[in-house]
Amino acid sequence: MRAAILFGPEDLRVQQVPEPEGEVIVTVEAATTCGTDVKMWRHGHRVLGPYPCPFGHEMAGVRTDTGERVLVSDSVSCGRCPPCRAGRPQICRDPTWVLGGFAERIAAPARALHPIPGGLPAAAAAMAEPLAAALHAVARGTDDADVGILGGGPMGLMIAALLIARGRAVTVAERHPERRRQAEQLGARAVTALDGHALVFEAVGRPEAWTAALRAARPGGVVVLVGGCPPGAEVTLPTGALHYDELELRGAFHHSPSEVDAALAALASGEVDWRVLAGETITLEQLPGALAAPAGGRARKWVVDPQATG
Ligand SMILES: [Zn+2]
Ligand SMILES: [Zn+2]
Repeated sequence: MRAAILFGPEDLRVQQVPEPEGEVIVTVEAATTCGTDVKMWRHGHRVLGPYPCPFGHEMAGVRTDTGERVLVSDSVSCGRCPPCRAGRPQICRDPTWVLGGFAERIAAPARALHPIPGGLPAAAAAMAEPLAAALHAVARGTDDADVGILGGGPMGLMIAALLIARGRAVTVAERHPERRRQAEQLGARAVTALDGHALVFEAVGRPEAWTAALRAARPGGVVVLVGGCPPGAEVTLPTGALHYDELELRGAFHHSPSEVDAALAALASGEVDWRVLAGETITLEQLPGALAAPAGGRARKWVVDPQATG
């Protein structure tokens, strides 16, 4: 079968590879790209196996054994480690990562599979993976009505959509005008810089953005750090704001299986309009060029159809 294999930083090749082997084989109908893919492609990532490695973590398709339509979650937690036992599977110490959505077929543990609600297209179902992470980020926040989001990429916009649906006043800070327009279409206020919010989400994934998010929080505020920075990155924190203003910093990583099901339900019910973020459908062969394209302009996720050729 054809698969996009990552051979090293910025070296993604589409090749014929042996059929995958594992518990359940899923024919991939759609795999979406995200900021994490760009980071993985550019810098490598802690969850990638040794090069050359399979690639792609937002995918949906059809089980070859039962014909059921499923989302393939990108991870399965161990169920035994202290975070798993504490009900926090997203920070499992020994997860099994399920990567390789940019391929005609993928092998996955049965526990990674989530049934797709009837009628939801595969491209939309694949987006339940990042939407589940957005739901998790929201759950890590507070009930404050006044929310600032730093970053109007797909993750920032998904968090905005979820909070707006819950009746919160959302301000999105983003330097690209097209993304500001998308945020406004969702019902957010769009600005170029945040200023004093009770709850702030960082959805950029750069150390300077983490610092900016912290400076955008009101005294007593909560900052949820959603964007993963390049490996080894560190930030310098203003001790005054943390101490005298009692700012609270919370990490938000990944999602739980129940959050994946909740995301699928939110997409199927129309609570979140997945079409706002769907970019063009491309082939596996077009994927390396798409990842290398500049990130400016409209926030969108490429939809890879691995069955299409050319
Ligand atoms: Zn993703
Ligand atoms: Zn675990």
